[in-house]
Amino acid sequence: MLEKRQFYIDGAWVDPKEGRDHHVIDPSTEEPCAVISLGGTADTEAAVAAAKAALPGWMATPPEQRIAALERVLAEYEKRTEDLAQAMSTEMGAPIAMSRSSQATAGSWHLANFIKAAKSFEWEKPLGDHAPDTLIRHEAVGVCALITPWNWPMNQITLKVGAALVAGNTMVLKPSEESPIDAMIFAEIMDAAGLPKGVFNLVNGDGAGVGSQLSAHKDVDMVSFTGSTRAGTAISKAAADTLKRVHLELGGKGANLIFVDADDKAVKRGVLHMMNNTGQSCNAPSRMMVEAPRYDAVVEEAATVAAGVTVGPASDDGRHIGPVVNESQWNKIQDLIQKGIDEGARVVAGGVGRPEGLNKGFFVRPTVFADVTPDMTIAREEIFGPVLSIMKFDSEEQAVEMANDTVYGLTNYVQSSDPERLRRLSRQLRSGMVEMNGQSRGAGAPFGGMKQSGNGREGGAWGIHDFVEVKAISGWVAE
Ligand code: NAD
Repeated sequence: MLEKRQFYIDGAWVDPKEGRDHHVIDPSTEEPCAVISLGGTADTEAAVAAAKAALPGWMATPPEQRIAALERVLAEYEKRTEDLAQAMSTEMGAPIAMSRSSQATAGSWHLANFIKAAKSFEWEKPLGDHAPDTLIRHEAVGVCALITPWNWPMNQITLKVGAALVAGNTMVLKPSEESPIDAMIFAEIMDAAGLPKGVFNLVNGDGAGVGSQLSAHKDVDMVSFTGSTRAGTAISKAAADTLKRVHLELGGKGANLIFVDADDKAVKRGVLHMMNNTGQSCNAPSRMMVEAPRYDAVVEEAATVAAGVTVGPASDDGRHIGPVVNESQWNKIQDLIQKGIDEGARVVAGGVGRPEGLNKGFFVRPTVFADVTPDMTIAREEIFGPVLSIMKFDSEEQAVEMANDTVYGLTNYVQSSDPERLRRLSRQLRSGMVEMNGQSRGAGAPFGGMKQSGNGREGGAWGIHDFVEVKAISGWVAE
C-alpha cells in the first residue's frame, strides 16, 4: 500500500507534527489503497506561516514572471497526466479512460486558459482620461486557503492554484481526504516548477481539523472553497470573525428543459450527461423537465438510454461508469432512491441495490424516475449519484418557475430550436451558467453559481479577478 504521510511546506516535504493515519479507500474494491496523515493545528500553523513569509516577495514579483512560473507548472503538469489519471481513478473511482480524457486533462486546460487570460489581464491602468494620475492596480489578496472536493479533484485544484498563483497570492491547499494522492502528485509538480519556497503549500486533513483551522486563521486572507453547501456555510461562519474573503463553489440541482422542438439527440445527451462521473458533478442536469406533448416518449427514451449505461470497476478500460466515492455516499444515494419510491415517483430504470454481478464496491444502478413532482425530496436535494428525475410542464412560464424553484443556481440547460425562446430563457433562468442545446462553454468562460450554489467564478479572466484586490492610487506619477 502506498504510504504518503508527508506534507509539502515551505518548499520541502516534511513529516507531520501532529499527524493521524488515514486510509484512502479504493471505491471499486472497498480496499485501502494508500495511507496519508491528517494534520493538526501545528501543521496548519507551519503551512500558513510559510505562505505568509513568502507573500511579500511573490506579490512583488512582476506579472510576466508569475506567468512564466505558471507556464513551468503547466509543462510539469503535462509530464504527469498519466500519474494523475491513475491516482484519481483509484481513489475516487473515475474509470481510467474517462480519468485520462476528462479528469486529468481538465487541469492542463484550466492552466493554459489562465496563462492566456493573465497575458491580457489589466494588472494596472489609469482610471481614465479625466484622471490620468489615478492608477487602478489589481494585486494579490494575500494568503489563500484552498479547500477542494474529491469529485473533480484536479479540475478544482488547478482552477484555484492557477488563478491564485498568477495573481500573486501565496497559498495552502487542503485537498479532500478522499482524494489526496492526486493532490500530492500536484505538489510534486509545483516543486518541479521551481517556485520560491512557501508560495505553494499542501497540508492534508479533514474538514473538522485542518479545514476549519484554515477557515478561522487570522493570517489567512481568503478561503476559496469548493464542496457541499453544508461545509460552505460552516466555512463562512468560521471565517466571519476575521472577515476574510470567502469564495464559494457549492452544490447544484440543474434543470434541463426539453421543449417539443428539441433536437433528436437532446434526451440521450441529457441522460448521459447526468450519468457522467457517476452523477457526481455539481453541474449535473439532474431534473429533466419535459413539455407535456413529448413527455411519454422522453420517459421511454431516457429509460432505454439509462439501461444501456454499464457500470464497472474504475481500472477496467471502456466507457462504463465507475462506483461512487465511498460508503456514506452509497448509503445516502440508496436512501434517496428509496425516498423517491416512497414519495410516489415511478422507477423506469435502475432502482435500489447494486447492479447485477457487482457484489463489492460502491456501485449504484443508473436510475431514472418519472412522474417526479416539485415537492418530492428527489426533486429538491442534490443526490450526487447516477439518478435522474423527470418532471412534466405545460407551458414555458411553468418550466421557468419549476427550474428556478430550488435553493441552488449553478447550471440550467435548455433544449429547443426556437432562438427567441432560447434568448428569453437565458435571461429568466437564475443560475450562473445556462447551456443551450448541448453547446459547452468556450475556453476561459467563468464557472460558478448564484443563490446557494455559491458566489465565486472560476476559470479564465474572471477566475483571476476573484483572487485580486482592487487598489486606487491617486497622485500617481507615471514613469
Ligand atoms: P465536502 O463539503 O464534504 O468536502 C469538500 C472539502 O471541504 C473537503 O476538502 C473537506 O475536507 C472540506 N470540509 C468539509 N467540511 C469542512 C468544514 N467544516 N470546514 C472546512 N473544510 C471542510 O464536499 P464533497 O463531498 O467533497 O464534494 C461534493 C460537493 O461539492 C457537492 O455538493 C458538489 O456539488 C460540490 N461541488 C461543487 C462544485 C462547484 O464548482 N460548484 C464543483 C465540484 C463539487
